Amino acid sequence: MVKERARILVVGGGYVGMYTALRLQRKLKQELRRGDVEITVVTPDPYMTYQPFLPEAAAGSISPRHVVVPLRRVLDHCTVIIGEATAIDHAKRTATLTTLATEEEGTGARQLTYDELVLAPGSISRTLPIPGLADHAIGFKTVEEAIGLRNHVIEQMDIASSTRDPAIRDAALTFVFVGGGYAGVEALGELEDMARYTARYYHNVQPEDMKWILVEASDRILPEVGAEMGRYTVTELRRRNIDVRLNTRLESCADRIAVLSDGARFPTRTVVWTAGVKPHPILAASDLPLTDRGRLKCTAELTIEGVTHAWAAGDAAAVPDVTADEPGKETAPNAQHAVRQAKVLGDNIAHALKGEPLETYSHKYVGSVASLGLHKGVAHVYGRKLKGYPAWFMHRVYHLSRVPTFNRKARVLAEWTLSGLFKREIVSLGSLEHPRAEFELAAGGKPPHDPTNDPKGSS
Ligand SMILES: Cc1cc2nc3c(=O)[nH]c(=O)nc-3n(C[C@H](O)[C@H](O)[C@H](O)COP(=O)(O)OP(=O)(O)OC[C@H]3O[C@@H](n4cnc5c(N)ncnc54)[C@H](O)[C@@H]3O)c2cc1C
Repeated sequence: MVKERARILVVGGGYVGMYTALRLQRKLKQELRRGDVEITVVTPDPYMTYQPFLPEAAAGSISPRHVVVPLRRVLDHCTVIIGEATAIDHAKRTATLTTLATEEEGTGARQLTYDELVLAPGSISRTLPIPGLADHAIGFKTVEEAIGLRNHVIEQMDIASSTRDPAIRDAALTFVFVGGGYAGVEALGELEDMARYTARYYHNVQPEDMKWILVEASDRILPEVGAEMGRYTVTELRRRNIDVRLNTRLESCADRIAVLSDGARFPTRTVVWTAGVKPHPILAASDLPLTDRGRLKCTAELTIEGVTHAWAAGDAAAVPDVTADEPGKETAPNAQHAVRQAKVLGDNIAHALKGEPLETYSHKYVGSVASLGLHKGVAHVYGRKLKGYPAWFMHRVYHLSRVPTFNRKARVLAEWTLSGLFKREIVSLGSLEHPRAEFELAAGGKPPHDPTNDPKGSS
């Protein structure tokens, strides 16, 4: 029984937002039914994205619909608002929201008052002021980016196949990835593997014609799987003719030329930026305490330090790692922590509302698995190191067990089974991004989309 009526506002519908709301739905079932508790989730998209599946979605092994979880279906006892929190005034327990209707209504942003706040907007790509980056590069954090990139890569193969100009062909077949964490390495590994397979169906594009380049500023890649497995991954990628450049930075990609700190220059139409994440800017638009790195200062109970009735977890939160040997360490921004923190967070809000003591979040990082393409992978989990097929298989089993809802597990498994029986998909459906183009032409409007005018180089 809760002590008084509580309106819980969850900002963000990703790992933390969705799992916290799910936990609260379960823990506060009676209270929700009686109307003693209300849960509102505010998030820009009506779905939660299972980001570890984005590289497989880019490779075409999983369809985009199945890497996302529909929030309205799973959070059926919550109110889901598709919109963005643009400011938080926690002293007044008020969030400022914009929704898809805000502009049309013309009445400005709306204010939502709450009693308990869960702030979980995740992170955004950490970019640097590199010439050309904002105009030409693409990130790899959303399902739109993953599918856009898949279409773009295949389209570059189509451009290369149809041009007689060697400079255009060369630029089209050069793919530069910046950042050697799991997002960059997995995206590159899966897309290169997909493109290599797709090349079989082109009369004039061979896998050797393509240049795949991984640029990493430090002296190692995939720190998540440990130094030894990171070195193995470098060897494996180089064996596949992927140009891995360690201790190297992207200095410019202006005029569609990637200039590296080692002096190399690559004309290219594809620069993928996966060089880390930083906290979401909404945190700075709140009156809540932040660390030097801009994450929310949190306690091990997942409350926000120094204030009451405010909670956070995941990429946005600096949570003390109570399992670390040296003091002052924070839990890393990854899904492994986000999911587990969300469970403790949901439980702790229920405890707080019932006047019970709070639990401490404690989880020792168990390692990581990464896929490097079909039947290729690397893993270092619970002290066990695996390479190649066994690691790839473990990656699939692990993520199948983790992807939320039975519905998504069944659909992903069905897709994997079918793709094992049939050939891989090899078409670019980039035109889906411009559904009116043909009709506009027929109706005498502006000419259909010209890929050379697209700042990201995709069409
Ligand atoms: C390609 C890729 C692969 C990855 N693979 C792994 C892996 O194998 N293992 C692993 O442990 N981790 C992995 N991660 C990291 C992991 O996905 C993140 O650590 C995790 O998603 C963090 O959860 P979160 O809830 O904090 O943020 P998110 O899941 O990003 O959720 C944040 C949510 O908040 C919403 N939001 C943003 N701004 C606002 C606003 N103003 N108002 C309302 N809502 C807002 C966003 O739209 C989003 O829905 C991967 C990440 C990427 C990009």
